[in-house]
Amino acid sequence: MFEALVAQPPDALLGLIKAYNSDSRAKKVDLGVGVYRDADGNTPVLKAVKAAETILLETQDSKKYLGPEGDIGFTTRLEPIVFGARHRLAGRLAALQTPGGTGALRLGAELLHAARPGTKVHLGAPTWPNHAPIFRAAGLAIETHPFADLATQAVDFDGVRAGLARAAPGDVVLLHGCCHNPTGIDFSRTQWEEIAATLAARKLVPFIDLAYQGLGDGLEEDAWATRLVLDAVDEALVAYSCDKNFGLYRDRVGALTVIARDAREAATTATNLAALARVAWSMPPDHGAAAVRIVLERPDLVAMWRAELDVMRGRINANRAALADADPGLAFIRDQRGLFSNLAMTKAQSQALSGRHAIYCTGSGRINVAGMQPGDAGAIVAALRAEGCL
Ligand code: PMP
Repeated sequence: MFEALVAQPPDALLGLIKAYNSDSRAKKVDLGVGVYRDADGNTPVLKAVKAAETILLETQDSKKYLGPEGDIGFTTRLEPIVFGARHRLAGRLAALQTPGGTGALRLGAELLHAARPGTKVHLGAPTWPNHAPIFRAAGLAIETHPFADLATQAVDFDGVRAGLARAAPGDVVLLHGCCHNPTGIDFSRTQWEEIAATLAARKLVPFIDLAYQGLGDGLEEDAWATRLVLDAVDEALVAYSCDKNFGLYRDRVGALTVIARDAREAATTATNLAALARVAWSMPPDHGAAAVRIVLERPDLVAMWRAELDVMRGRINANRAALADADPGLAFIRDQRGLFSNLAMTKAQSQALSGRHAIYCTGSGRINVAGMQPGDAGAIVAALRAEGCL
């Protein structure tokens, strides 16, 4: 049986973690792994989450099965945060809790495959490296178009336009709702408006990946583009992750929401999502989503969470400003958003950064700006200059 298997390459980020951990130099900088870090390099459990977990521990009186939809209170409480307090999608939503944003993307892909086998998904390049494999694993076809040019650090909007022009009605377009991974480059408001109009006119289906709400410009601001697109189209999917904005990474907290044309189609879609979840993971892990639900149920914990999110966002954007101030060649980093920017560099240059300077980023030049500690900007810039990246 297993003799037919071909060895798969190890996850590049895991290799990076290993190399960083075994580096014995006193001063080293981890810009690799995609998690938020505080000024001491830690990724702490949020105080609001700890408080909710304490309540959960004291009040949870059973761990009996909840069902494939997961914690319905969680998905319901998330709705106004993602879609707005006065959204007009009521009755057209089919939502379900998933194991992280990854689970939401995979379940959405499975739903698309069930609805129309072999559906084509359009991806801008570069994108999160897991997007294409997730969609392919569900049997969908992938077509890519340019999204951003790392040499200019700008959206390649002609490339995006051409990609959308090639798409056929019913094709799916993957869009990062905010804080693009890996580039930190988001569409401008006018670009979003054109995209929304094009999606609607050409009957393309947006699949919005919203994994960093609140880590860019604010909770409302980071949902602006998602809401604009959803206002314009009849049908859409939204894959949501609470793993970054609630710091719940390993607890795997996400949600998939499908926006259908009407209540009848939404109800049918919900039964399909439940059936697909049943054969994938039966039901999602409860703990993290229950903690998020408890935070969202209590105004005091919501205020605490928002304040912690403000601190995370403030630190990320201060680090961006520090890098931009340290070298005019990095000025673009100030205008980018979220954990990541993607510097233009070769794999050899990224290896030289770690080998010679103990500064770790991915082989493709993606840096996690939250990995910097106060005072690191100077050393990072010096290393980038020394290796010809600036
Ligand atoms: N989408 C994007 C763009 C991401 O960056 C990530 C996480 N790296 C995810 C989805 C998946 O998030 P989760 O850890 O919740 O599965």
